[in-house]
Amino acid sequence: MTIRPSEYPPPFGAREFVAEPSDPLDERIEVGVLIVGAGPAGLACAIRLGQLVQESPELAERLGEVPVAVLEKAKQPGSHIVSGAVVNPRSLRRLLRGTKGIEDMPFYGEVEAEGVYFLRAKTAMRIPTPPTMRNHGNYVASLSQLTRWLAEQAEEAGVTILPETVAEKLLVKDGRVLGVRTGDKGRGRNGERLPNFEPGSDILARVTILCEGTQGHLTGIALDTFGLEGESPQVWALGVKEVWKVERPLRRIVHTMGWPLRAGAKYREFGGSFIYPMGDDMLTLGLVVGLDYRDAELSVHDLLQELKTNPFVHKMLQGGERIAWGAKTIPEGGFVALPKRLHAPGLLLCGDGAGMVNVPALKGIHYAVESGRLAAEAAVETVRPGRTPWTPGALGVYDDAVRKSFIWSDLKEVRNMRQAFGRGFYVGGMLAGAMTASKGNFPPGNLETERDADQTIFRTGRAKRYPVPDGKLTFDKLSSVYLSGNRSRDDAPSHLRVRTSVPEELAVLWERMCPAQVYEAAGGTVEVTPSNCVQCGAITAKGGRLTPPEGGTGPEYTLT
Ligand SMILES: Cc1cc2nc3c(=O)[nH]c(=O)nc-3n(C[C@H](O)[C@H](O)[C@H](O)COP(=O)(O)OP(=O)(O)OC[C@H]3O[C@@H](n4cnc5c(N)ncnc54)[C@H](O)[C@@H]3O)c2cc1C
Ligand code: SF4
Repeated sequence: MTIRPSEYPPPFGAREFVAEPSDPLDERIEVGVLIVGAGPAGLACAIRLGQLVQESPELAERLGEVPVAVLEKAKQPGSHIVSGAVVNPRSLRRLLRGTKGIEDMPFYGEVEAEGVYFLRAKTAMRIPTPPTMRNHGNYVASLSQLTRWLAEQAEEAGVTILPETVAEKLLVKDGRVLGVRTGDKGRGRNGERLPNFEPGSDILARVTILCEGTQGHLTGIALDTFGLEGESPQVWALGVKEVWKVERPLRRIVHTMGWPLRAGAKYREFGGSFIYPMGDDMLTLGLVVGLDYRDAELSVHDLLQELKTNPFVHKMLQGGERIAWGAKTIPEGGFVALPKRLHAPGLLLCGDGAGMVNVPALKGIHYAVESGRLAAEAAVETVRPGRTPWTPGALGVYDDAVRKSFIWSDLKEVRNMRQAFGRGFYVGGMLAGAMTASKGNFPPGNLETERDADQTIFRTGRAKRYPVPDGKLTFDKLSSVYLSGNRSRDDAPSHLRVRTSVPEELAVLWERMCPAQVYEAAGGTVEVTPSNCVQCGAITAKGGRLTPPEGGTGPEYTLT
């Protein structure tokens, strides 16, 4: 029997998360522009709006008492952020317009040198750096730290940031987005009100800008509600990373390909690792694997543990100590999966939520920042006297700006690369080389993208080969979740929508895939422990649905 995760859809309907405002009129919170998500996209958008408001008292008056507000579901900005991160600084420079320089930003330094290696279990062979992976002029950061710094800049620019606040429902009336409803807090396992219960609120705005990052909950609802889905479906990769305190400094950034992934086309295992220095005494290493893989026993967390046993990698970590861990998905569909429009009446979409990631370069941060800045400028255009952001098409100025920006040209150039690797590592590699040489002109059309959840799955017994965690070099999932700072309470309602009665293979797939040990396959059923969840989003790609849990819960990343 062939099994595809998409044949077992989760109990979920987009309608459930679309509502009209329900609070009494005098209890509704009104803000000028509402941004959902305090990541690079949301905070860049907030900073630009803050600048524009400071420059124009008239705009400030029009946007009201709270001109710009940002909602963030994490305990504080940065707490749900996981990235590499090698940052291309071009859009940060443009955003901060000389008021802050590179030296003010919390970077670990400029990329001094780099190397790309092809791995086998015991060896590492240096190969020429593909042009898309060159990082001259870029800087290494912890994106969680950089995000906290951006939040400070936004607050200095007069922006209101509301942490621990989930945007749960999209408020829509007469085809126009009016804002969001935030999630309740203090409910018990079955939805009952606990003594500390706090209801959510309607937050209304002239423009709502969704900057939710990968697997954005309301972004998905908006794509569905307004028919904005792109030409091809979105696909994702899962990245799991660790930060290590090390004895010897690493002086260059390293990327690896090959082992522990398998090259055969039937496995569809596409990905690689990154190892970046964080000053003299820390480094970060992570593994990113496309979620169109087929082996139900594949576990990115365990493959990362295996990667560290390669002598080339092991040497960098010897005598060191793991100090942080995190996991998150990356949208990989690229240009052809971008939404057909990035706006709806009263609404804009930015950053990873819209899929603005350059996969071969493993870069999304500068696209997120640029899109946030452009969204801010578009929003301001449509609140000028005589204009409204909810006139159909009015916010199309944002689409025009994105199309003219480097976001569009960069993503177009690499538009078929991810899709090519669905044909296996070697064929994919050859096609990618031809695409790079022709600057994206070969092949002339768009290669087909297949949904991650549509891949048939099988088992190969691979899990037997994962290293047994020793607590020094290799670690289990639960100690990793603990290190993520996740202290979510056990008695909260489940925010994960999955079928619990599914074929054994699918239950095993979820158990292995989830980096946080949320699922346990138990003879045809799935046991779910939602409090372990680090909100990486992988389950949404492979047949379930992540919805936002109570605000302020989940991981508390500081270094990822
Ligand atoms: C392992 C890994 C390595 C990467 N390496 C690099 C790299 O080296 N260089 C690079 O340029 N890019 C890299 N990327 C990609 C980069 O991290 C993203 O492109 C970037 O973070 C996107 O920014 P964003 O603001 O769109 O989304 P995010 O950074 O994901 O921020 C979104 C924010 O919105 C919040 N949020 C989401 N939904 C809601 C809601 N409903 N209510 C309230 N808050 C909400 C989230 O908690 C989060 O704080 C990497 C990604 C991963 C996972
Ligand atoms: S349950 Fe949470 S941590 Fe596990 S795969 Fe799903 S989103 Fe990621």
